[in-house]
Amino acid sequence: METTDKIAISDRRKFLALMAQSGGFMALGGMVWTGYLEEAKSAPLVLRPPAAVLEKDFMRLCIKCGQCVVACPYHTLSLAKPGDTKPLGTPFFIPREVPCHMCTDIPCVPVCPTGALDEKSVSKITEGVFELDITKARMGLAVVDVQSCIAFWGIQCDACYRACPIMDSAIKLEYRRNERTGKHAYLTPIVNSLTCTGCGLCERACVTEKAAIHVLPLEIATGNIGSHYIKGWEQGDEQRLEKASGDVTTHTKRSEKSATDYLNSNEEMFK
Ligand code: SF4
Ligand code: SF4
Repeated sequence: METTDKIAISDRRKFLALMAQSGGFMALGGMVWTGYLEEAKSAPLVLRPPAAVLEKDFMRLCIKCGQCVVACPYHTLSLAKPGDTKPLGTPFFIPREVPCHMCTDIPCVPVCPTGALDEKSVSKITEGVFELDITKARMGLAVVDVQSCIAFWGIQCDACYRACPIMDSAIKLEYRRNERTGKHAYLTPIVNSLTCTGCGLCERACVTEKAAIHVLPLEIATGNIGSHYIKGWEQGDEQRLEKASGDVTTHTKRSEKSATDYLNSNEEMFK
């Protein structure tokens, strides 16, 4: 083979190798960029610092300055890094690792320069004086997995109950007879969604391998009654009916009969 031919083949190989490398870098760049875009979006499962506004507003307001993270004396808060699968640079916490210790002076909140953490939402006015109140924080809601909570097996465990800073309000123990043994009681944790702050101290304290009680963001953990159901025994609750829209009854074939027509007949029930 002529020397000039060899040079031409060698140049072609270099060119093809360069193209392959560029393709690889482009693909890698594409993957990194896609990963970045995924992490830049708001994440439904992220837990934010106390007093954080709704997630969509939080993503707009938080400038990722990290002042809340620096102010936290327990190192509860972190700013999301690549790979954390949270919106990059935004503050979050993982209760099983470091829960929020519910500081009464809430140092993480007043330092926020943008209102992403809303001081008013964790404040109250007592005798005309404005004061912070961490019990008003709603970082999330603790949810119990009754299948993996050993208290629901009948084993005595009150780790989450004792860890709760608002004991006997946010978490209560419910006593029930253990029919299986006939001589013991179940003492099971019940979370009150109206007072749970989502601090995660219960999740941290849970003795099971993976916590049987865990904090979820409010948007995910809470239901919504709507305005159709009212507590007739609570004064003022009837006012919610005023917001109900028109006809709120579900009509089925069974609606044609009165309840007493079908409730006493199994055959009718399952038609
Ligand atoms: S209340 Fe205290 S422990 Fe909780 S995030 Fe704020 S500074 Fe940290
Ligand atoms: S202080 Fe406010 S703006 Fe800064 S990172 Fe924390 S939440 Fe975001």
